[in-house]
Amino acid sequence: MLVKVVTFFLIGIAVLAMFGRLKFPGQSRLENAKCPKCGRYKIGKGPCSCGHIGHRKG
Ligand SMILES: [Zn+2]
Repeated sequence: MLVKVVTFFLIGIAVLAMFGRLKFPGQSRLENAKCPKCGRYKIGKGPCSCGHIGHRKG
């Protein structure tokens, strides 16, 4: 009985790890937050410190 519980627990962790690898949380958001000009991460909605205003069209 206990072996079954442990097996299911391990399978659950494995599935979670696989999903975590496939869909890294916030990865695409971080890419969108990057300045297309200098590649630095922008904080907030304002223009980058390099002067580039991040308009995202399409
Ligand atoms: Zn920039």
